[in-house]
Amino acid sequence: LDADEFRRQGRLVVDFIADYHTRIDEYPVRPSVAPGFLARKLPETAPERPEPGDALAAALRDVRDLILPGVTHWQSPRHFAHFAATASNVGALGEALAAGLNINPFTWAASPAATELEVVVTDWLGKALHLPEALLFCGGGGGTLLGTSCEAMICTIVAARDRKLAEIGEERIGDLVVYCSDQTHFSFQKAARIAGIRRGNYREIPTSRESGFTLSPKALLAAVRADVAAGRIPLFLCATVGTTPTAAVDPIRELCAVVAGHDVWVHVDAAYAGAACVCPEFRHAIDGVESVDSFSTNPHKWLLANMDCCALWVRRPEALTSALGTDHDVILKDPSSSAQNGHSNVVDYKDWQVALSRRFRALKLWLVLRCHGVEGLRSFVRSHVRMAVAFEAMVRGDARFEVPVPRRFALVCFRLRRRSIAGAVGEKRARDEVEEHNNELNRRLLEAVNATGRAYMSSAVVGGIYVLRCAIGNSLTEERHVQEAWAVVQEQATVVLAAETT
Ligand code: PLP
Repeated sequence: LDADEFRRQGRLVVDFIADYHTRIDEYPVRPSVAPGFLARKLPETAPERPEPGDALAAALRDVRDLILPGVTHWQSPRHFAHFAATASNVGALGEALAAGLNINPFTWAASPAATELEVVVTDWLGKALHLPEALLFCGGGGGTLLGTSCEAMICTIVAARDRKLAEIGEERIGDLVVYCSDQTHFSFQKAARIAGIRRGNYREIPTSRESGFTLSPKALLAAVRADVAAGRIPLFLCATVGTTPTAAVDPIRELCAVVAGHDVWVHVDAAYAGAACVCPEFRHAIDGVESVDSFSTNPHKWLLANMDCCALWVRRPEALTSALGTDHDVILKDPSSSAQNGHSNVVDYKDWQVALSRRFRALKLWLVLRCHGVEGLRSFVRSHVRMAVAFEAMVRGDARFEVPVPRRFALVCFRLRRRSIAGAVGEKRARDEVEEHNNELNRRLLEAVNATGRAYMSSAVVGGIYVLRCAIGNSLTEERHVQEAWAVVQEQATVVLAAETT
């Protein structure tokens, strides 16, 4: 690693990124490329020797000419699909700093300051989100930074499983039952499978439009009672604050009350909406969190920490470490082992996660918190919510459209209203046909909007109806982008509806 060359190359890359962000608005948000388009343009094998001349400069030209035309521009101010992956200068530079230091803090001894920064910064973030002290190190719990919410689910479900099996015997693994709603992110199903939960013991409780697609405590109670009566053992409940389709908020307090007395591990997946809890006015979304066993949120979604960053807090770290900890000889005898160094009271994050090796994620989150401050994060979240409120009002102002589920946080779900079609009145079958027809119309609308390249949104099907999702959350998005996105939707709706009638 040549320092002078690194400085020169670093400038090339920083300039490249800065130029990209300056011009990002000029790209169609979604690329129009066919599978295999890139592979056809690249050599079939890696070069044997470094490319002659300035190889990095040549590669950056290829990034510009070959790769960027084929990426979806997630940082575009016109990207309203999925949930945002927010970016900030310090989030990106924090990533660069961590990559430059390139340390592997799997135990405290393997990099004491990296571990301690993670301990400090997860407590900082937990306090900023108004989490109860019991989930923070300062209150006997503690947090860690993983890559994704899916990892958080795997780690917590495995911890809950092992704790329960230690009590009832490993042979009863087939009796363990886990609960969630039909709106829960599919990564929970994946986590349950990995943890060895029988497929038949995965209870996905149906939600309804009337209850705003939230998990009903009454339905949960019925499911738990039926399982207990049949001799099965309730193990884990995954409640969501901000579901992926509509950002619905499961009522944590009531759900905890239902499972109290059954020794069920309650995990809150707040991947997207957890960020909103920096604002006291949104804190009510996690009322009841005092009783949960674990809570996770992705600062890379809405808190300016570039990919990837999922913060997980647990009430009893020892449940995680006894399930995921290893005292394998190779680690114990290694000089990087905390135990070998006589430090048995420190956090060894390898025991809080699946893998051994880990990234120094705390650095970028610490930079984000220092350079933006919690107040900066509050304004960031509030600005998106304000824009979403404005977008919702624009949708409601056009009689062709409806907002079938209320806006939550900065996500607006909307669609073209159901219109009657000839001869389809009254009968349920006819109603279903109308619904399906309307779903198809909205599918066409989304495709038409996205094909313009001037706005990019996504969709969800909830309660049998297809909705377009406008998720506002990008760092570069301003009110004018939201207004323009709405203009694109209106214009394309006119085209799609006209095609209907001809
Ligand atoms: N949970 C919710 C509510 C989500 O919206 C998502 C992704 O958008 C996930 C979990 C999965 O997150 P990850 O990609 O970090 O595993």
